[in-house]
Amino acid sequence: MDSGKKPRVIAIEEHYLDAVVEARLGLWSAGGETRDRLADLGERRVGQMDAAGIDIQVLSHCVPGVQAFEADEAATLARDVNDRLFDFVTSKPDRFCAFATLPTPDPHSAADELERSVTALGFKGAMVHGLTNGLFIDDKRFWPIFDRAQALDVPIYVHPGRPHPAVIEAYYRDYVEAYPAILNAGWGFTVETATAGLRLVLSGVFDAYPNLKIILGHLGESLPFSLWRINHTFSKAMPANKKDARFREIFCAHFYVTTSGNFSTPALLCCIQELGIDRILFGVDWPYIENAPGTKWMQDLPLSEQDRGKILNGNARNLLRI
Ligand code: MN
Repeated sequence: MDSGKKPRVIAIEEHYLDAVVEARLGLWSAGGETRDRLADLGERRVGQMDAAGIDIQVLSHCVPGVQAFEADEAATLARDVNDRLFDFVTSKPDRFCAFATLPTPDPHSAADELERSVTALGFKGAMVHGLTNGLFIDDKRFWPIFDRAQALDVPIYVHPGRPHPAVIEAYYRDYVEAYPAILNAGWGFTVETATAGLRLVLSGVFDAYPNLKIILGHLGESLPFSLWRINHTFSKAMPANKKDARFREIFCAHFYVTTSGNFSTPALLCCIQELGIDRILFGVDWPYIENAPGTKWMQDLPLSEQDRGKILNGNARNLLRI
Protein backbone atom coordinates (compact mmCIF):
# COMPACT_ATOMS: atom_id res chain seq x y z
CA MET A 1 0.00 0.00 0.00
CA ASP A 2 1.32 3.45 -0.87
CA SER A 3 2.00 5.52 2.20
CA GLY A 4 -0.57 8.20 2.79
CA LYS A 5 -3.17 6.50 0.64
CA LYS A 6 -6.47 5.63 2.26
CA PRO A 7 -6.95 1.86 2.57
CA ARG A 8 -9.46 0.58 0.05
CA VAL A 9 -10.22 -2.76 1.67
CA ILE A 10 -10.36 -3.27 5.43
CA ALA A 11 -11.32 -6.75 6.66
CA ILE A 12 -12.39 -6.81 10.29
CA GLU A 13 -12.98 -10.42 11.40
CA GLU A 14 -9.59 -11.92 10.71
CA HIS A 15 -8.18 -14.39 13.19
CA TYR A 16 -4.84 -15.51 14.50
CA LEU A 17 -3.60 -17.89 17.22
CA ASP A 18 -1.26 -16.86 20.03
CA ALA A 19 1.54 -19.38 20.58
CA VAL A 20 1.17 -19.48 24.37
CA VAL A 21 -2.62 -19.94 24.20
CA GLU A 22 -2.05 -22.72 21.69
CA ALA A 23 0.42 -24.48 23.98
CA ARG A 24 -1.80 -24.10 27.05
CA LEU A 25 -5.08 -25.21 25.45
CA GLY A 26 -3.72 -27.92 23.16
CA LEU A 27 -6.74 -27.57 20.87
CA TRP A 28 -4.75 -27.47 17.65
CA SER A 29 -2.47 -30.46 18.22
CA ALA A 30 -3.70 -32.13 15.02
CA GLY A 31 -2.04 -29.28 13.10
CA GLY A 32 -3.25 -28.77 9.57
CA GLU A 33 -3.57 -25.92 7.14
CA THR A 34 -6.03 -23.84 9.19
CA ARG A 35 -3.86 -24.08 12.31
CA ASP A 36 -0.78 -23.09 10.34
CA ARG A 37 -2.50 -20.09 8.79
CA LEU A 38 -3.91 -19.01 12.18
CA ALA A 39 -0.45 -19.17 13.74
CA ASP A 40 1.22 -17.31 10.90
CA LEU A 41 1.90 -13.65 11.54
CA GLY A 42 4.28 -13.12 8.71
CA GLU A 43 4.82 -12.95 5.00
CA ARG A 44 2.42 -15.76 4.23
CA ARG A 45 -0.50 -13.90 5.76
CA VAL A 46 0.49 -10.65 4.07
CA GLY A 47 0.98 -12.44 0.76
CA GLN A 48 -2.53 -13.85 0.88
CA MET A 49 -3.91 -10.41 1.72
CA ASP A 50 -2.04 -8.90 -1.23
CA ALA A 51 -3.25 -11.62 -3.59
CA ALA A 52 -6.87 -10.80 -2.71
CA GLY A 53 -6.52 -7.02 -2.52
CA ILE A 54 -6.96 -6.66 1.23
CA ASP A 55 -5.12 -3.63 2.58
CA ILE A 56 -5.76 -4.03 6.31
CA GLN A 57 -6.74 -6.92 8.56
CA VAL A 58 -8.18 -6.07 11.97
CA LEU A 59 -6.83 -9.06 13.91
CA SER A 60 -8.64 -10.95 16.64
CA HIS A 61 -7.68 -14.07 18.53
CA CYS A 62 -9.55 -17.19 17.40
CA VAL A 63 -12.16 -18.83 19.59
CA PRO A 64 -12.01 -19.34 22.58
CA GLY A 65 -9.25 -16.79 23.21
CA VAL A 66 -8.45 -16.78 26.93
CA GLN A 67 -12.06 -17.32 27.98
CA ALA A 68 -11.52 -21.03 28.70
CA PHE A 69 -9.08 -20.34 31.55
CA GLU A 70 -9.70 -19.75 35.25
CA ALA A 71 -10.18 -16.09 36.12
CA ASP A 72 -6.69 -15.39 37.48
CA GLU A 73 -4.84 -17.07 34.64
CA ALA A 74 -7.15 -15.56 32.03
CA ALA A 75 -6.38 -12.05 33.28
CA THR A 76 -2.62 -12.57 33.27
CA LEU A 77 -2.65 -14.35 29.94
CA ALA A 78 -4.81 -11.72 28.25
CA ARG A 79 -2.29 -8.99 29.03
CA ASP A 80 0.54 -11.04 27.55
CA VAL A 81 -1.51 -12.05 24.51
CA ASN A 82 -2.47 -8.44 23.80
CA ASP A 83 1.11 -7.26 24.31
CA ARG A 84 2.36 -9.83 21.80
CA LEU A 85 -0.33 -8.78 19.33
CA PHE A 86 0.66 -5.14 19.84
CA ASP A 87 4.27 -5.99 18.99
CA PHE A 88 3.16 -7.56 15.72
CA VAL A 89 0.66 -4.88 14.74
CA THR A 90 3.16 -2.11 15.36
CA SER A 91 5.68 -3.92 13.15
CA LYS A 92 3.29 -3.48 10.17
CA PRO A 93 1.07 -0.56 11.15
CA ASP A 94 -0.14 0.11 7.60
CA ARG A 95 -1.45 -3.48 7.25
CA PHE A 96 -2.81 -4.49 10.65
CA CYS A 97 -5.01 -3.26 13.50
CA ALA A 98 -6.28 -5.25 16.47
CA PHE A 99 -9.21 -6.15 18.65
CA ALA A 100 -8.26 -7.01 22.23
CA THR A 101 -8.62 -10.43 23.78
CA LEU A 102 -10.53 -10.12 27.06
CA PRO A 103 -10.39 -12.32 30.18
CA THR A 104 -14.17 -12.54 30.50
CA PRO A 105 -13.98 -15.06 33.40
CA ASP A 106 -12.94 -11.98 35.43
CA PRO A 107 -15.21 -9.21 34.09
CA HIS A 108 -13.58 -6.37 36.05
CA SER A 109 -10.14 -7.37 34.81
CA ALA A 110 -11.66 -7.66 31.33
CA ALA A 111 -12.88 -4.07 31.54
CA ASP A 112 -9.46 -2.91 32.71
CA GLU A 113 -7.73 -4.86 29.95
CA LEU A 114 -10.08 -3.35 27.38
CA GLU A 115 -9.11 0.11 28.58
CA ARG A 116 -5.40 -0.68 28.58
CA SER A 117 -5.63 -2.22 25.12
CA VAL A 118 -7.36 0.84 23.70
CA THR A 119 -5.51 3.62 25.48
CA ALA A 120 -1.99 2.11 25.75
CA LEU A 121 -1.90 -0.26 22.76
CA GLY A 122 -4.16 1.56 20.30
CA PHE A 123 -6.53 -1.37 19.80
CA LYS A 124 -9.88 -0.71 18.13
CA GLY A 125 -12.20 -2.50 20.57
CA ALA A 126 -12.45 -6.13 21.65
CA MET A 127 -13.83 -9.46 20.56
CA VAL A 128 -15.66 -11.85 22.88
CA HIS A 129 -16.47 -15.45 21.98
CA GLY A 130 -19.69 -17.27 22.85
CA LEU A 131 -20.34 -18.37 26.41
CA THR A 132 -18.08 -17.79 29.41
CA ASN A 133 -18.47 -20.52 32.04
CA GLY A 134 -21.90 -21.27 30.57
CA LEU A 135 -23.11 -17.65 30.71
CA PHE A 136 -24.16 -15.46 27.79
CA ILE A 137 -22.43 -12.09 27.53
CA ASP A 138 -25.63 -10.17 28.42
CA ASP A 139 -25.38 -11.46 32.01
CA LYS A 140 -25.10 -8.47 34.34
CA ARG A 141 -21.80 -9.78 35.70
CA PHE A 142 -20.26 -8.81 32.34
CA TRP A 143 -21.67 -5.29 32.21
CA PRO A 144 -18.44 -3.70 33.48
CA ILE A 145 -17.07 -4.56 30.01
CA PHE A 146 -19.90 -2.69 28.30
CA ASP A 147 -19.60 0.21 30.73
CA ARG A 148 -15.93 0.59 29.79
CA ALA A 149 -16.58 0.09 26.07
CA GLN A 150 -19.06 2.96 26.10
CA ALA A 151 -16.67 5.18 28.07
CA LEU A 152 -13.89 4.46 25.56
CA ASP A 153 -16.30 4.66 22.60
CA VAL A 154 -15.13 1.37 21.11
CA PRO A 155 -17.24 -1.55 19.85
CA ILE A 156 -17.45 -5.05 21.27
CA TYR A 157 -17.43 -7.74 18.59
CA VAL A 158 -19.68 -10.61 19.72
CA HIS A 159 -18.24 -13.67 17.96
CA PRO A 160 -19.52 -17.25 17.95
CA GLY A 161 -18.43 -19.95 20.34
CA ARG A 162 -19.30 -23.59 20.82
CA PRO A 163 -22.85 -24.35 22.05
CA HIS A 164 -23.46 -25.23 25.71
CA PRO A 165 -22.84 -28.96 26.39
CA ALA A 166 -26.49 -29.46 27.35
CA VAL A 167 -27.56 -27.90 24.05
CA ILE A 168 -25.16 -30.11 22.13
CA GLU A 169 -26.60 -33.14 23.86
CA ALA A 170 -30.25 -32.18 23.33
CA TYR A 171 -30.09 -30.67 19.84
CA TYR A 172 -27.09 -31.97 17.92
CA ARG A 173 -25.65 -35.18 19.38
CA ASP A 174 -27.00 -37.58 16.74
CA TYR A 175 -25.57 -35.52 13.87
CA VAL A 176 -22.19 -34.60 15.36
CA GLU A 177 -20.27 -37.61 14.14
CA ALA A 178 -21.34 -37.38 10.51
CA TYR A 179 -21.54 -33.58 10.44
CA PRO A 180 -19.27 -32.05 13.10
CA ALA A 181 -19.82 -28.62 11.54
CA ILE A 182 -23.34 -28.68 12.96
CA LEU A 183 -21.72 -27.41 16.19
CA ASN A 184 -19.89 -24.55 14.54
CA ALA A 185 -20.23 -22.65 11.28
CA GLY A 186 -22.77 -25.11 9.87
CA TRP A 187 -25.43 -24.10 12.40
CA GLY A 188 -24.50 -24.13 16.11
CA PHE A 189 -22.41 -20.94 15.96
CA THR A 190 -25.27 -19.07 14.31
CA VAL A 191 -27.84 -20.10 16.90
CA GLU A 192 -25.50 -19.29 19.79
CA THR A 193 -24.59 -15.86 18.51
CA ALA A 194 -28.08 -14.88 17.37
CA THR A 195 -29.25 -15.82 20.86
CA ALA A 196 -26.52 -13.66 22.38
CA GLY A 197 -27.58 -10.71 20.21
CA LEU A 198 -31.24 -11.15 21.05
CA ARG A 199 -30.50 -11.47 24.76
CA LEU A 200 -28.38 -8.30 24.69
CA VAL A 201 -31.38 -6.33 23.40
CA LEU A 202 -33.76 -7.86 25.96
CA SER A 203 -31.27 -7.36 28.82
CA GLY A 204 -31.66 -3.60 28.94
CA VAL A 205 -27.91 -3.07 28.50
CA PHE A 206 -28.62 -0.46 25.83
CA ASP A 207 -30.80 1.51 28.24
CA ALA A 208 -27.92 1.48 30.71
CA TYR A 209 -25.34 2.29 28.00
CA PRO A 210 -27.11 4.25 25.28
CA ASN A 211 -23.95 4.70 23.20
CA LEU A 212 -22.82 1.07 23.32
CA LYS A 213 -21.85 -0.43 19.95
CA ILE A 214 -21.95 -4.15 19.19
CA ILE A 215 -20.62 -5.89 16.07
CA LEU A 216 -21.97 -9.21 14.83
CA GLY A 217 -20.26 -11.19 12.08
CA HIS A 218 -21.76 -13.45 9.41
CA LEU A 219 -24.26 -10.81 8.24
CA GLY A 220 -25.80 -10.53 11.68
CA GLU A 221 -26.05 -14.23 12.50
CA SER A 222 -29.53 -14.39 10.87
CA LEU A 223 -31.04 -11.69 13.10
CA PRO A 224 -31.65 -9.14 10.29
CA PHE A 225 -33.70 -11.75 8.40
CA SER A 226 -35.80 -12.42 11.51
CA LEU A 227 -36.03 -8.86 12.73
CA TRP A 228 -39.58 -8.08 11.65
CA ARG A 229 -40.95 -11.22 13.29
CA ILE A 230 -38.96 -10.84 16.50
CA ASN A 231 -40.01 -7.22 16.79
CA HIS A 232 -43.64 -7.99 16.00
CA THR A 233 -43.77 -10.79 18.55
CA PHE A 234 -42.15 -8.88 21.40
CA SER A 235 -44.15 -5.77 20.57
CA LYS A 236 -47.68 -7.10 20.54
CA ALA A 237 -49.45 -7.01 23.86
CA MET A 238 -46.65 -4.84 25.26
CA PRO A 239 -47.17 -1.24 26.33
CA ALA A 240 -45.59 1.02 23.73
CA ASN A 241 -43.15 2.49 26.22
CA LYS A 242 -41.69 -0.86 27.28
CA LYS A 243 -38.12 -1.44 26.20
CA ASP A 244 -38.96 -4.84 24.76
CA ALA A 245 -41.61 -3.23 22.56
CA ARG A 246 -38.96 -1.63 20.37
CA PHE A 247 -36.63 -4.47 19.63
CA ARG A 248 -35.98 -3.47 16.03
CA GLU A 249 -35.26 0.13 16.95
CA ILE A 250 -32.71 -0.91 19.59
CA PHE A 251 -31.08 -3.48 17.32
CA CYS A 252 -30.69 -1.04 14.44
CA ALA A 253 -29.34 1.69 16.71
CA HIS A 254 -26.62 -0.38 18.40
CA PHE A 255 -25.56 -3.21 16.11
CA TYR A 256 -23.18 -3.34 13.17
CA VAL A 257 -22.83 -6.46 11.04
CA THR A 258 -19.97 -7.77 8.95
CA THR A 259 -19.83 -9.96 5.86
CA SER A 260 -17.50 -12.47 7.53
CA GLY A 261 -18.03 -16.00 6.28
CA ASN A 262 -21.30 -15.13 4.56
CA PHE A 263 -20.86 -13.88 1.00
CA SER A 264 -24.57 -14.10 0.17
CA THR A 265 -26.00 -11.31 -1.97
CA PRO A 266 -29.63 -11.86 -0.88
CA ALA A 267 -28.56 -11.91 2.79
CA LEU A 268 -26.50 -8.73 2.32
CA LEU A 269 -29.41 -6.95 0.64
CA CYS A 270 -31.62 -7.94 3.59
CA CYS A 271 -29.07 -6.39 5.96
CA ILE A 272 -28.89 -3.21 3.88
CA GLN A 273 -32.69 -2.93 3.91
CA GLU A 274 -33.00 -3.54 7.65
CA LEU A 275 -29.93 -1.77 9.05
CA GLY A 276 -28.87 0.66 6.35
CA ILE A 277 -25.61 0.74 4.41
CA ASP A 278 -23.71 2.59 7.16
CA ARG A 279 -23.83 -0.40 9.52
CA ILE A 280 -22.34 -3.04 7.26
CA LEU A 281 -18.60 -3.73 7.22
CA PHE A 282 -16.43 -6.03 5.20
CA GLY A 283 -14.91 -9.09 6.85
CA VAL A 284 -13.67 -12.45 5.60
CA ASP A 285 -13.28 -14.70 8.69
CA TRP A 286 -9.81 -15.68 7.53
CA PRO A 287 -8.35 -18.31 7.67
CA TYR A 288 -11.57 -20.31 7.95
CA ILE A 289 -12.75 -18.59 4.76
CA GLU A 290 -10.59 -17.61 1.80
CA ASN A 291 -9.89 -13.93 1.12
CA ALA A 292 -10.28 -13.81 -2.65
CA PRO A 293 -13.92 -14.98 -2.91
CA GLY A 294 -14.80 -12.20 -0.48
CA THR A 295 -13.16 -9.36 -2.36
CA LYS A 296 -14.40 -10.71 -5.72
CA TRP A 297 -17.95 -10.94 -4.37
CA MET A 298 -17.74 -7.34 -3.18
CA GLN A 299 -16.53 -6.13 -6.59
CA ASP A 300 -19.33 -7.97 -8.41
CA LEU A 301 -22.15 -6.76 -6.16
CA PRO A 302 -24.86 -4.57 -7.70
CA LEU A 303 -24.04 -1.57 -5.47
CA SER A 304 -23.11 2.01 -6.17
CA GLU A 305 -19.39 2.74 -5.82
CA GLN A 306 -20.23 4.91 -2.83
CA ASP A 307 -22.04 2.11 -1.01
CA ARG A 308 -19.37 -0.45 -1.94
CA GLY A 309 -16.75 1.90 -0.51
CA LYS A 310 -18.68 2.26 2.74
CA ILE A 311 -18.74 -1.51 3.23
CA LEU A 312 -15.13 -2.05 2.15
CA ASN A 313 -13.52 0.73 4.15
CA GLY A 314 -15.54 3.84 5.01
CA ASN A 315 -17.70 2.34 7.73
CA ALA A 316 -14.70 0.63 9.34
CA ARG A 317 -12.69 3.86 9.27
CA ASN A 318 -15.56 5.66 11.00
CA LEU A 319 -16.40 2.99 13.57
CA LEU A 320 -12.83 1.96 14.39
CA ARG A 321 -11.11 5.29 13.66
CA ILE A 322 -8.66 3.75 11.22
MN1 MN B 1 -14.69 -15.79 13.03
